[in-house]
Amino acid sequence: MTYLAKSPWIVHYDGSSCNGCDIEVLAALTPIYDVERFGIVNTGNPKHADIFLVTGSVNEKNREIVKNTYDQMPEPKVVVAIGICAATGGIFRECYNVMGGIDKVIPVDVYVPGCAARPESIIDGVVQALGILEAKRKAMNENPGAAKKPAGDAR
Ligand code: SF4
Repeated sequence: MTYLAKSPWIVHYDGSSCNGCDIEVLAALTPIYDVERFGIVNTGNPKHADIFLVTGSVNEKNREIVKNTYDQMPEPKVVVAIGICAATGGIFRECYNVMGGIDKVIPVDVYVPGCAARPESIIDGVVQALGILEAKRKAMNENPGAAKKPAGDAR
């Protein structure tokens, strides 16, 4: 079986951000930045998504949601942590219920810096994600059995 190349679709999840990074993610979709020129569509369904954009930190309430969303995405998939909160917990990292960055729960492929992350940085992170996604597709074509590896093994 071969894996067909297609335009990458994104699912975006706001972990526990202040909404600053989410506004910048939405800005990246507006005509000014126009991330759709890369063929990218923002979908609400993880089962249709190739790239998982996460803003905010992981806490005891959302850890299962982050993990479930990731697990529903088909292989190959790429995770992009947007902003310092998604990378480390950021300004919320010492809150009583915050576990830290997204990589406490799922493997992260690209870290986009910033507080808030700028739309240009987010687009740069997505473009990096496209390259990683293509490499993963190629690896799956060469070794389809690797796709059966349980999600989260990279942790
Ligand atoms: S990195 Fe900054 S702007 Fe983004 S969610 Fe955290 S506090 Fe808000």
